Amino acid sequence: MVYLKTEEEIELLRQANLLVGRTLAEIARMIRPGVTTNDINKLADTFIRDNGAVPTFKGVPSPYGEPFPASVCCSVNDQVVHGIPNDRPLEEGDIVSVDCGTLLNGFNGDSCYTFAVGNVSDAVKQLLKVTKESLYLGIKAALPGHHIGDIGFAVQNHCESHGYGVVRELVGHGIGREMHEDPMVPNYGKKGSGMKITDGLCIAIEPMITMGSRQIEIEADGWTIKTSDSLPSAHFEHTIAVHNGCPDIMSSFEEVEQIEGKLY
Ligand code: MG
Ligand code: MG
Repeated sequence: MVYLKTEEEIELLRQANLLVGRTLAEIARMIRPGVTTNDINKLADTFIRDNGAVPTFKGVPSPYGEPFPASVCCSVNDQVVHGIPNDRPLEEGDIVSVDCGTLLNGFNGDSCYTFAVGNVSDAVKQLLKVTKESLYLGIKAALPGHHIGDIGFAVQNHCESHGYGVVRELVGHGIGREMHEDPMVPNYGKKGSGMKITDGLCIAIEPMITMGSRQIEIEADGWTIKTSDSLPSAHFEHTIAVHNGCPDIMSSFEEVEQIEGKLY
């Protein structure tokens, strides 16, 4: 069941997502070699709660065991998504995807950014650049009258043309009062396939792109998804609302990118 949102609901969705953007900016300010993903988690948890919201990832049940123990997912290098924060200091050349969810005034924010730790290799910069570009190409395809498959086609076409892998097992999603609503929004697809996009559709688009093979596996903790070939993976996510005839990005990388500077 797809719930289309009213303009009032879209404004609430925007507030929850702007808070995620501000949280990611706080994280951008602290990312450097020596910082741990537990440090990132602690800062995010405090910042979200200080702003009157609840971090939504904490306590999410797992089909494999324990509920998710932290307030953000921190996935380092070959970890694709759902990494559990820990005490290993980040090192120069690492990348870390921080996926952040908030619940504010009954609506969900959901956005992810992959940060570079210090100087990263040119190959990794290219992976980050192409993955982020593919997110915006997917968003551009989310027009009323287009189909969900047009989004996946745009993401897949761009990333595969650079020789990268597009993870199939994990997808974007509808978002609103629930963090995960219908429809599913795959990062692969055929033009003109899937549900027709209309005004009021609110979705999270989130390409998860691998430098090598798209094959993934789950680590022993029952949460962390990593690449099978142990090559790096990037993940960028925006929540968008389709209204007034075009996609409107609810979350924001603006502040993060100001802090990060021109990296690629
Ligand atoms: Mg997310
Ligand atoms: Mg999501």
